[in-house]
Amino acid sequence: MARSVVAGNDLGTPGATDGTGPRRGTTDAILPPMPNDTADLVLTGGRIFTGDAAKTWAQALAVRGNRIVSVGSDRDVRALVGSSTRVIELRGRTVTPGFQDAHVHPTHGGLARIRCELHDARGRDEYLRILGEYATEHPDREWILGGGWSLADFPGGLPRREDLDAIVPDRPVFFPNRDGHDAWVNSKALEMAGITRDTPDPADGRIARDEDGTPLGTLHEGAMDLVGRLVPATSAEDFRQALLEAQRYLHGLGITAWQDAWVEPADQAAYLALAESGELTARVIGALWWDRSNGLEQIDGLVERRAAGQRGRYQATSVKLMCDGIIENHTAAMLQPYLDGQGHATDNSGLDFIDAETLTAAVVKLDALGFQPHFHALGDRAVRHALDAVEAARRANGWSDTRPHLAHLQVVHPDDIPRFGRLGALANAQPVWAVLEEQMSELTLPVLGDEVSGRQYPWRSLRRHGATLVMGSDWAVSTPDPFLEMEVAVTRVSPDARETGEPLLPHEGIELVDALTAFTAGSAYANHLDETGSLAVGRLADLAILDRDLFDEASGPIGDTTVLATFVDGVVVHERPGLD
Ligand SMILES: [Zn+2]
Repeated sequence: MARSVVAGNDLGTPGATDGTGPRRGTTDAILPPMPNDTADLVLTGGRIFTGDAAKTWAQALAVRGNRIVSVGSDRDVRALVGSSTRVIELRGRTVTPGFQDAHVHPTHGGLARIRCELHDARGRDEYLRILGEYATEHPDREWILGGGWSLADFPGGLPRREDLDAIVPDRPVFFPNRDGHDAWVNSKALEMAGITRDTPDPADGRIARDEDGTPLGTLHEGAMDLVGRLVPATSAEDFRQALLEAQRYLHGLGITAWQDAWVEPADQAAYLALAESGELTARVIGALWWDRSNGLEQIDGLVERRAAGQRGRYQATSVKLMCDGIIENHTAAMLQPYLDGQGHATDNSGLDFIDAETLTAAVVKLDALGFQPHFHALGDRAVRHALDAVEAARRANGWSDTRPHLAHLQVVHPDDIPRFGRLGALANAQPVWAVLEEQMSELTLPVLGDEVSGRQYPWRSLRRHGATLVMGSDWAVSTPDPFLEMEVAVTRVSPDARETGEPLLPHEGIELVDALTAFTAGSAYANHLDETGSLAVGRLADLAILDRDLFDEASGPIGDTTVLATFVDGVVVHERPGLD
């Protein structure tokens, strides 16, 4: 059975308009095509999601050099096949524009993959086993570094130092969780940082403590830096290896471009080096990190880093403004106070990492300078402040083409939903978060209460009110697999609980075709990569070949889809055996 395809007219694309000569449309070409007319790559017999405005489907596609030269029927491309053309028979499989992740942390994810990686593990015991093995296998490492544990695996989201002390007593251990908002440390790390029961909490974070004030081994937000700043600097070679590993992994998921949502000078140096050596095969937009401990005086430095950050496929044209934290540790900025476990209001409504006045002044200035503002806005107060800042920029600078986007959007006040479309502020969704699992039921719903909980991840409402939806993973926080992400965007159920899971606010689920559009054309728009994101004649040949007909329900859950091949500029950057 076909999944709902809102606007589809199979094979309805008119013939390509690239002027490849009179043989086009001739069913029995007698003369072989001239070399200049032939394609380098032809895909036939497929279900090609063009992603154009009309959501047209095609059967075949041809690429010459780095551009698409024909999109249409098998007959349309037949004349383009020459002796050196690679022809791939799709046998009904889907081809999509290359996926673009509009909010991702490839250096973090890549470093985790080349260090001690806990993302795929579950539960305290498994974490400790993996950590112990890693420490034994790396006796020369002065620090035990890695990350990826989940808050939900510990009571109250608070892992303890004693567990780490038992396996690594003599070397410091520093392990951020998969959200990157909390770190698990051992006693050695606390001792080296001089953190004791007398250490006050920093302004932008908290030291988790036992009742007598003793640090228990979890550091929230800015408190992570108390230990994090002691960690030896990551070497340029580590960054390089991390990015190459991240790129290999992301290409394997059909991703051809991304926006790196946290670029510090060391990340930028690694991107520039890979762009220089020709090893950067992905298109990357760098979002330069706004230092929230400083004000507008940092803008001159950002302008310099942007000027230095333009090489090949790497373009540092965004600025990442982190407006607040996360709900699970009560640092997301909310319009109403968090509730205690009994449903009573507390005196905490979260943190504004950048105060509203500074945020507005910064965004007006950045927008005027042509920077794209990229907000981390998770709580409803952070969302409102970010939209206020965009509105002020529109008023001051007119309708610039900076395409501001707000990532995360866990809670959006109903009054703010129509403002996205009105202001041209893009809604950058991390769809896999919209599920009812332990982290949601134990750490989120009780502190938000029923009414506010009902405003979470309102993707359908945002679309209905004219917002442009774009998508990203926030990897290494959560999986960068676009198929798992799109499955949740549709079902609002975790793929881990497909059969039994109760959906989270299912009326905010969206159609597959809309999720796919958000992940391709939508994110391409956010990335200002206007020659990508759809498959049309003249566009750059960035595309993915899937292992199935994505829209055929009989082919199984969306999230089980795998990618057989990924192309950037018409060149293979990922391929599984047996494609031809
Ligand atoms: Zn992020």
